[in-house]
Amino acid sequence: MYITVEKPKDLFKKCFDFTLADEVKAQGVYPFFHPIDENEGPVVSFGGRKLVMAGSNNYLGLTSNPKVKEASINAIKKYGTSCSGSRYMTGTVNLHLELERQLADFFEKESCLLFSTGYQTGQGIIPTLVQRGEYLVSDRDNHASLVAAAIMAQGAGAKLVRFNHNNMDDLERVLQNIPDNAPRLIVVDGVFSVSGEIVELPRLVELAKQYGARIVIDDAHAVGVIGKGGRGTASEFNLVDDVDLIMGTFSKTFGSLGGYVVGEEKVIDYIKHNASSLIFSASPTPASVAAVLVSLQIIRDQPELMTRLVENTDYVRQGLLKAGFRLMPSRTAIVTVLISDQMKTLLFWKKLFDAGVYVNAFIRPGVMPGHEALRTSFMATHEKEHLDKVITEFCTIGKELGVI
Ligand code: PMP
Repeated sequence: MYITVEKPKDLFKKCFDFTLADEVKAQGVYPFFHPIDENEGPVVSFGGRKLVMAGSNNYLGLTSNPKVKEASINAIKKYGTSCSGSRYMTGTVNLHLELERQLADFFEKESCLLFSTGYQTGQGIIPTLVQRGEYLVSDRDNHASLVAAAIMAQGAGAKLVRFNHNNMDDLERVLQNIPDNAPRLIVVDGVFSVSGEIVELPRLVELAKQYGARIVIDDAHAVGVIGKGGRGTASEFNLVDDVDLIMGTFSKTFGSLGGYVVGEEKVIDYIKHNASSLIFSASPTPASVAAVLVSLQIIRDQPELMTRLVENTDYVRQGLLKAGFRLMPSRTAIVTVLISDQMKTLLFWKKLFDAGVYVNAFIRPGVMPGHEALRTSFMATHEKEHLDKVITEFCTIGKELGVI
Protein backbone atom coordinates (compact mmCIF):
# COMPACT_ATOMS: atom_id res chain seq x y z
CA MET A 1 0.00 0.00 0.00
CA TYR A 2 1.29 3.46 -0.96
CA ILE A 3 0.68 6.56 1.12
CA THR A 4 0.70 9.77 -0.88
CA VAL A 5 2.43 12.56 1.02
CA GLU A 6 1.45 16.05 0.00
CA LYS A 7 4.47 18.19 -0.80
CA PRO A 8 4.76 21.09 1.68
CA LYS A 9 4.23 24.60 0.35
CA ASP A 10 7.44 26.55 -0.20
CA LEU A 11 8.22 28.71 2.83
CA PHE A 12 9.79 31.35 0.55
CA LYS A 13 6.59 31.76 -1.53
CA LYS A 14 5.78 34.98 0.38
CA CYS A 15 9.13 36.44 -0.74
CA PHE A 16 8.57 35.62 -4.39
CA ASP A 17 5.05 37.07 -4.13
CA PHE A 18 6.24 40.30 -2.46
CA THR A 19 5.97 43.00 -5.12
CA LEU A 20 5.41 46.26 -3.25
CA ALA A 21 9.06 47.42 -3.36
CA ASP A 22 9.38 46.57 -7.07
CA GLU A 23 6.15 48.39 -7.90
CA VAL A 24 7.30 51.52 -6.09
CA LYS A 25 10.75 51.31 -7.75
CA ALA A 26 9.10 50.97 -11.18
CA GLN A 27 7.24 54.23 -10.49
CA GLY A 28 10.56 55.92 -9.69
CA VAL A 29 9.52 57.01 -6.18
CA TYR A 30 11.25 54.41 -3.97
CA PRO A 31 12.28 56.27 -0.78
CA PHE A 32 14.33 53.65 1.06
CA PHE A 33 17.97 52.51 1.34
CA HIS A 34 19.49 55.40 -0.61
CA PRO A 35 23.25 55.46 0.04
CA ILE A 36 24.79 58.69 1.29
CA ASP A 37 28.33 59.19 0.04
CA GLU A 38 29.33 62.02 2.35
CA ASN A 39 27.76 63.21 5.57
CA GLU A 40 28.49 66.65 6.95
CA GLY A 41 25.51 66.63 9.33
CA PRO A 42 22.90 69.13 8.14
CA VAL A 43 24.02 68.57 4.54
CA VAL A 44 24.60 65.17 2.93
CA SER A 45 25.72 64.18 -0.51
CA PHE A 46 24.21 61.62 -2.94
CA GLY A 47 26.31 60.90 -6.00
CA GLY A 48 27.96 64.31 -5.60
CA ARG A 49 24.60 66.12 -5.23
CA LYS A 50 24.15 68.03 -1.93
CA LEU A 51 20.87 67.73 -0.02
CA VAL A 52 19.66 69.32 3.20
CA MET A 53 19.23 66.48 5.69
CA ALA A 54 15.82 67.00 7.29
CA GLY A 55 15.18 63.48 8.51
CA SER A 56 18.05 62.51 10.75
CA ASN A 57 17.94 61.81 14.48
CA ASN A 58 21.37 63.41 14.85
CA TYR A 59 19.60 66.10 16.89
CA LEU A 60 22.59 68.04 18.20
CA GLY A 61 24.70 67.41 15.09
CA LEU A 62 27.30 65.50 17.09
CA THR A 63 28.07 62.81 14.48
CA SER A 64 30.27 65.30 12.67
CA ASN A 65 31.66 67.07 15.73
CA PRO A 66 35.49 66.98 15.46
CA LYS A 67 35.98 66.11 19.17
CA VAL A 68 33.50 63.22 18.97
CA LYS A 69 35.17 61.86 15.83
CA GLU A 70 38.62 62.17 17.35
CA ALA A 71 37.54 60.27 20.49
CA SER A 72 36.36 57.36 18.32
CA ILE A 73 39.61 57.28 16.38
CA ASN A 74 41.68 57.31 19.58
CA ALA A 75 39.59 54.51 21.08
CA ILE A 76 40.23 52.34 18.04
CA LYS A 77 43.95 53.00 18.40
CA LYS A 78 43.88 51.90 22.05
CA TYR A 79 41.29 49.09 22.11
CA GLY A 80 40.97 47.98 18.46
CA THR A 81 37.85 47.95 16.32
CA SER A 82 35.75 45.46 18.30
CA CYS A 83 35.55 43.90 21.75
CA SER A 84 34.83 40.56 20.02
CA GLY A 85 32.69 39.28 22.88
CA SER A 86 29.73 40.06 25.09
CA ARG A 87 29.87 42.34 28.12
CA TYR A 88 29.16 39.25 30.19
CA MET A 89 32.29 37.42 29.08
CA THR A 90 35.44 38.96 27.63
CA GLY A 91 33.90 42.03 25.95
CA THR A 92 33.99 44.65 28.73
CA VAL A 93 36.56 47.46 28.50
CA ASN A 94 37.17 50.36 30.92
CA LEU A 95 35.24 52.69 28.63
CA HIS A 96 31.99 50.73 29.17
CA LEU A 97 32.26 51.12 32.94
CA GLU A 98 33.22 54.78 32.70
CA LEU A 99 30.21 55.54 30.48
CA GLU A 100 27.88 53.58 32.80
CA ARG A 101 29.10 55.65 35.76
CA GLN A 102 28.68 58.91 33.89
CA LEU A 103 25.21 58.12 32.57
CA ALA A 104 23.93 57.03 35.99
CA ASP A 105 25.21 60.35 37.32
CA PHE A 106 23.68 62.34 34.42
CA PHE A 107 20.23 60.81 34.90
CA GLU A 108 20.48 60.91 38.71
CA LYS A 109 19.89 57.17 39.02
CA GLU A 110 21.90 54.60 40.98
CA SER A 111 23.12 52.45 38.14
CA CYS A 112 23.37 52.07 34.37
CA LEU A 113 23.82 49.22 31.90
CA LEU A 114 24.91 49.55 28.28
CA PHE A 115 23.58 47.49 25.36
CA SER A 116 24.80 47.27 21.78
CA THR A 117 21.70 48.96 20.31
CA GLY A 118 18.57 50.67 21.58
CA TYR A 119 16.53 47.91 19.97
CA GLN A 120 18.33 45.31 22.07
CA THR A 121 17.88 47.42 25.20
CA GLY A 122 14.09 46.99 25.12
CA GLN A 123 14.53 43.30 24.38
CA GLY A 124 16.90 43.06 27.32
CA ILE A 125 14.68 44.83 29.84
CA ILE A 126 11.12 43.78 29.08
CA PRO A 127 11.17 39.96 28.72
CA THR A 128 13.72 39.79 31.56
CA LEU A 129 11.55 41.71 34.00
CA VAL A 130 8.02 40.70 32.97
CA GLN A 131 7.62 36.96 33.36
CA ARG A 132 4.94 34.26 33.34
CA GLY A 133 1.68 35.51 34.85
CA GLU A 134 2.97 39.09 35.18
CA TYR A 135 1.52 42.00 33.19
CA LEU A 136 3.08 44.28 30.62
CA VAL A 137 1.00 47.38 29.96
CA SER A 138 1.97 48.99 26.68
CA ASP A 139 0.93 52.08 24.68
CA ARG A 140 -0.47 51.06 21.27
CA ASP A 141 1.92 53.47 19.48
CA ASN A 142 5.11 52.35 21.22
CA HIS A 143 8.21 51.96 19.05
CA ALA A 144 8.58 48.74 17.04
CA SER A 145 11.46 47.60 19.27
CA LEU A 146 9.18 47.72 22.33
CA VAL A 147 6.45 45.89 20.42
CA ALA A 148 8.96 43.14 19.56
CA ALA A 149 10.12 43.02 23.18
CA ALA A 150 6.50 42.73 24.35
CA ILE A 151 5.89 39.83 21.98
CA MET A 152 9.00 38.10 23.35
CA ALA A 153 7.70 38.50 26.91
CA GLN A 154 4.27 37.27 25.84
CA GLY A 155 5.83 34.22 24.17
CA ALA A 156 7.41 33.36 27.52
CA GLY A 157 4.08 33.55 29.35
CA ALA A 158 3.75 37.22 30.34
CA LYS A 159 0.35 38.85 29.82
CA LEU A 160 0.38 41.74 27.35
CA VAL A 161 -2.30 44.40 27.61
CA ARG A 162 -2.36 47.53 25.52
CA PHE A 163 -3.99 50.92 26.00
CA ASN A 164 -5.02 53.51 23.42
CA HIS A 165 -2.24 55.85 22.46
CA ASN A 166 -1.36 58.35 25.21
CA ASN A 167 -4.90 57.99 26.59
CA MET A 168 -4.65 57.94 30.37
CA ASP A 169 -8.36 57.11 30.86
CA ASP A 170 -7.82 54.00 28.79
CA LEU A 171 -4.66 53.20 30.75
CA GLU A 172 -6.72 53.37 33.93
CA ARG A 173 -9.36 51.04 32.45
CA VAL A 174 -6.62 48.54 31.52
CA LEU A 175 -4.99 48.74 34.97
CA GLN A 176 -8.37 48.22 36.69
CA ASN A 177 -8.86 44.99 34.74
CA ILE A 178 -5.59 43.40 35.88
CA PRO A 179 -6.00 40.97 38.80
CA ASP A 180 -5.28 42.87 42.04
CA ASN A 181 -2.15 41.04 43.12
CA ALA A 182 -0.49 40.61 39.69
CA PRO A 183 2.85 42.46 39.24
CA ARG A 184 2.77 44.94 36.34
CA LEU A 185 5.09 47.14 34.27
CA ILE A 186 3.95 50.11 32.18
CA VAL A 187 6.12 50.73 29.12
CA VAL A 188 5.90 53.89 27.01
CA ASP A 189 7.94 56.03 24.66
CA GLY A 190 8.87 59.34 26.33
CA VAL A 191 8.66 61.06 22.93
CA PHE A 192 6.76 59.03 20.34
CA SER A 193 8.97 58.39 17.36
CA VAL A 194 6.47 58.90 14.53
CA SER A 195 4.68 61.99 15.82
CA GLY A 196 7.17 63.59 18.22
CA GLU A 197 4.41 63.81 20.83
CA ILE A 198 5.36 63.66 24.56
CA VAL A 199 3.81 61.07 26.87
CA GLU A 200 1.26 62.33 29.46
CA LEU A 201 3.68 61.47 32.22
CA PRO A 202 2.21 63.23 35.29
CA ARG A 203 -1.11 61.34 35.00
CA LEU A 204 0.70 58.12 34.08
CA VAL A 205 2.81 58.36 37.23
CA GLU A 206 -0.31 58.97 39.35
CA LEU A 207 -1.99 55.90 37.88
CA ALA A 208 1.14 53.78 38.32
CA LYS A 209 1.19 54.72 42.01
CA GLN A 210 -2.52 54.11 42.44
CA TYR A 211 -2.42 50.69 40.75
CA GLY A 212 1.02 49.55 41.95
CA ALA A 213 2.77 49.47 38.57
CA ARG A 214 6.45 49.97 37.76
CA ILE A 215 7.34 52.28 34.86
CA VAL A 216 9.90 52.11 32.06
CA ILE A 217 10.27 54.98 29.59
CA ASP A 218 12.02 54.70 26.23
CA ASP A 219 13.59 58.14 25.93
CA ALA A 220 15.28 57.62 22.56
CA HIS A 221 13.89 60.87 21.09
CA ALA A 222 13.82 62.86 24.34
CA VAL A 223 17.37 62.93 25.63
CA GLY A 224 19.25 66.03 24.47
CA VAL A 225 15.92 67.43 23.30
CA ILE A 226 13.72 67.99 26.39
CA GLY A 227 14.20 68.03 30.15
CA LYS A 228 16.70 69.94 32.27
CA GLY A 229 19.99 70.01 30.39
CA GLY A 230 18.54 67.43 27.96
CA ARG A 231 17.82 64.82 30.64
CA GLY A 232 14.64 63.70 28.91
CA THR A 233 10.96 63.21 29.66
CA ALA A 234 11.04 62.41 33.39
CA SER A 235 13.22 65.46 33.99
CA GLU A 236 10.92 67.62 31.82
CA PHE A 237 8.08 66.89 34.28
CA ASN A 238 10.26 66.83 37.41
CA LEU A 239 9.44 63.14 37.89
CA VAL A 240 12.84 61.45 37.73
CA ASP A 241 12.35 59.68 41.08
CA ASP A 242 8.93 58.39 40.01
CA VAL A 243 10.09 56.68 36.82
CA ASP A 244 11.72 53.35 37.70
CA LEU A 245 13.74 52.80 34.54
CA ILE A 246 14.80 55.18 31.79
CA MET A 247 16.17 53.58 28.65
CA GLY A 248 17.47 55.09 25.45
CA THR A 249 19.77 54.92 22.49
CA PHE A 250 23.07 56.43 21.44
CA SER A 251 22.00 56.49 17.78
CA LYS A 252 20.25 59.85 18.03
CA THR A 253 21.40 62.80 20.17
CA PHE A 254 24.60 61.02 21.28
CA GLY A 255 25.80 60.66 17.66
CA SER A 256 26.86 57.04 18.04
CA LEU A 257 25.43 53.52 18.30
CA GLY A 258 24.28 51.55 21.33
CA GLY A 259 21.68 51.65 24.09
CA TYR A 260 21.41 52.05 27.86
CA VAL A 261 19.09 51.70 30.81
CA VAL A 262 19.36 53.52 34.14
CA GLY A 263 17.61 52.74 37.41
CA GLU A 264 17.95 51.19 40.85
CA GLU A 265 21.14 49.19 41.36
CA LYS A 266 19.48 45.87 42.26
CA VAL A 267 17.19 46.03 39.22
CA ILE A 268 20.03 46.90 36.83
CA ASP A 269 22.10 44.09 38.35
CA TYR A 270 19.26 41.62 37.76
CA ILE A 271 18.93 42.70 34.11
CA LYS A 272 22.72 42.51 33.73
CA HIS A 273 22.82 38.87 34.78
CA ASN A 274 19.66 37.69 32.99
CA ALA A 275 19.10 39.66 29.77
CA SER A 276 19.63 37.47 26.71
CA SER A 277 20.16 40.39 24.32
CA LEU A 278 23.07 41.52 26.50
CA ILE A 279 24.62 38.20 27.43
CA PHE A 280 24.53 36.66 23.96
CA SER A 281 25.54 39.68 21.87
CA ALA A 282 28.88 41.46 21.46
CA SER A 283 29.38 44.64 23.49
CA PRO A 284 29.29 48.14 22.00
CA THR A 285 32.52 48.92 20.14
CA PRO A 286 35.16 51.08 21.85
CA ALA A 287 34.72 53.67 19.07
CA SER A 288 30.97 53.92 19.77
CA VAL A 289 31.40 54.23 23.53
CA ALA A 290 34.20 56.79 23.31
CA ALA A 291 32.03 58.95 21.03
CA VAL A 292 29.20 58.89 23.59
CA LEU A 293 31.54 59.92 26.42
CA VAL A 294 32.51 63.07 24.52
CA SER A 295 28.93 63.73 23.36
CA LEU A 296 27.75 63.54 26.96
CA GLN A 297 30.35 66.10 27.94
CA ILE A 298 29.19 68.37 25.10
CA ILE A 299 25.55 68.00 26.18
CA ARG A 300 26.56 69.04 29.70
CA ASP A 301 28.83 71.92 28.60
CA GLN A 302 26.87 73.38 25.69
CA PRO A 303 23.20 73.83 26.61
CA GLU A 304 23.00 76.37 23.81
CA LEU A 305 22.90 73.43 21.35
CA MET A 306 19.54 72.36 22.77
CA THR A 307 18.27 75.93 22.56
CA ARG A 308 19.29 76.05 18.88
CA LEU A 309 17.54 72.73 18.25
CA VAL A 310 14.29 74.03 19.77
CA GLU A 311 14.52 77.28 17.81
CA ASN A 312 15.28 75.50 14.55
CA THR A 313 12.43 73.03 14.93
CA ASP A 314 9.95 75.74 15.95
CA TYR A 315 10.96 77.81 12.94
CA VAL A 316 10.10 75.00 10.51
CA ARG A 317 6.98 73.98 12.46
CA GLN A 318 5.60 77.52 12.32
CA GLY A 319 6.54 77.87 8.64
CA LEU A 320 4.72 74.69 7.67
CA LEU A 321 1.68 75.43 9.85
CA LYS A 322 1.39 78.92 8.36
CA ALA A 323 1.48 77.38 4.88
CA GLY A 324 -1.50 75.19 5.79
CA PHE A 325 0.11 71.75 6.27
CA ARG A 326 -1.46 69.32 8.75
CA LEU A 327 1.16 68.42 11.38
CA MET A 328 1.08 65.75 14.04
CA PRO A 329 1.06 67.23 17.59
CA SER A 330 4.68 67.74 18.65
CA ARG A 331 6.85 70.22 20.51
CA THR A 332 10.02 68.17 20.14
CA ALA A 333 12.56 67.92 17.29
CA ILE A 334 10.20 65.87 15.10
CA VAL A 335 7.79 67.57 12.68
CA THR A 336 5.55 65.07 10.92
CA VAL A 337 3.50 66.27 7.96
CA LEU A 338 0.34 64.26 7.33
CA ILE A 339 -0.34 63.44 3.69
CA SER A 340 -2.84 60.58 4.22
CA ASP A 341 -2.28 58.95 0.84
CA GLN A 342 0.43 56.46 -0.07
CA MET A 343 1.16 57.51 -3.66
CA LYS A 344 1.06 61.22 -2.84
CA THR A 345 3.47 60.64 0.06
CA LEU A 346 5.92 58.82 -2.20
CA LEU A 347 5.61 61.40 -4.96
CA PHE A 348 6.07 64.24 -2.46
CA TRP A 349 9.13 62.47 -1.03
CA LYS A 350 10.66 62.07 -4.52
CA LYS A 351 10.03 65.69 -5.50
CA LEU A 352 11.64 66.86 -2.24
CA PHE A 353 14.59 64.56 -2.87
CA ASP A 354 15.05 65.93 -6.39
CA ALA A 355 14.75 69.48 -5.08
CA GLY A 356 17.52 68.87 -2.51
CA VAL A 357 15.67 68.01 0.72
CA TYR A 358 15.97 64.57 2.33
CA VAL A 359 13.11 63.49 4.64
CA ASN A 360 11.51 60.20 5.73
CA ALA A 361 8.46 58.75 3.98
CA PHE A 362 6.16 56.80 6.28
CA ILE A 363 3.92 54.36 4.44
CA ARG A 364 2.49 50.95 5.34
CA PRO A 365 3.45 48.74 7.10
CA GLY A 366 5.16 51.47 9.21
CA VAL A 367 1.87 53.38 9.58
CA MET A 368 -1.82 52.52 9.17
CA PRO A 369 -3.55 53.35 5.85
CA GLY A 370 -4.69 56.98 5.96
CA HIS A 371 -1.80 57.96 8.25
CA GLU A 372 0.87 58.17 5.52
CA ALA A 373 3.20 61.04 6.31
CA LEU A 374 6.53 62.75 5.74
CA ARG A 375 8.53 62.84 8.94
CA THR A 376 11.07 65.60 9.25
CA SER A 377 13.45 66.18 12.14
CA PHE A 378 15.96 68.90 12.80
CA MET A 379 19.41 69.54 14.21
CA ALA A 380 21.08 72.20 16.29
CA THR A 381 23.55 72.62 13.43
CA HIS A 382 21.02 73.52 10.72
CA GLU A 383 21.53 77.07 9.48
CA LYS A 384 18.60 79.36 8.65
CA GLU A 385 19.23 78.89 4.92
CA HIS A 386 18.77 75.09 5.34
CA LEU A 387 15.50 75.57 7.20
CA ASP A 388 14.20 78.10 4.67
CA LYS A 389 15.03 75.66 1.88
CA VAL A 390 12.98 72.94 3.62
CA ILE A 391 9.97 75.26 4.10
CA THR A 392 10.15 76.65 0.55
CA GLU A 393 10.37 73.24 -1.14
CA PHE A 394 7.57 71.85 1.04
CA CYS A 395 5.34 74.78 0.05
CA THR A 396 6.10 74.58 -3.68
CA ILE A 397 5.53 70.82 -3.86
CA GLY A 398 2.61 70.91 -1.44
CA LYS A 399 0.78 73.32 -3.77
CA GLU A 400 1.71 71.33 -6.88
CA LEU A 401 0.29 68.12 -5.36
CA GLY A 402 -2.78 69.78 -3.85
CA VAL A 403 -1.71 69.01 -0.26
CA ILE A 404 -2.10 72.68 0.73
N1 PMP B 1 13.33 53.17 20.69
C1 PMP B 1 12.86 54.19 19.96
C2 PMP B 1 11.72 55.00 20.49
C3 PMP B 1 13.43 54.47 18.72
O1 PMP B 1 12.96 55.47 17.97
C4 PMP B 1 14.52 53.68 18.26
C5 PMP B 1 15.22 53.96 16.93
N2 PMP B 1 14.43 54.38 15.91
C6 PMP B 1 14.95 52.63 19.05
C7 PMP B 1 14.35 52.40 20.26
C8 PMP B 1 16.05 51.74 18.60
O2 PMP B 1 17.28 52.33 18.81
P1 PMP B 1 18.59 51.87 18.02
O3 PMP B 1 18.62 52.63 16.74
O4 PMP B 1 19.69 52.21 18.93
O5 PMP B 1 18.47 50.39 17.82
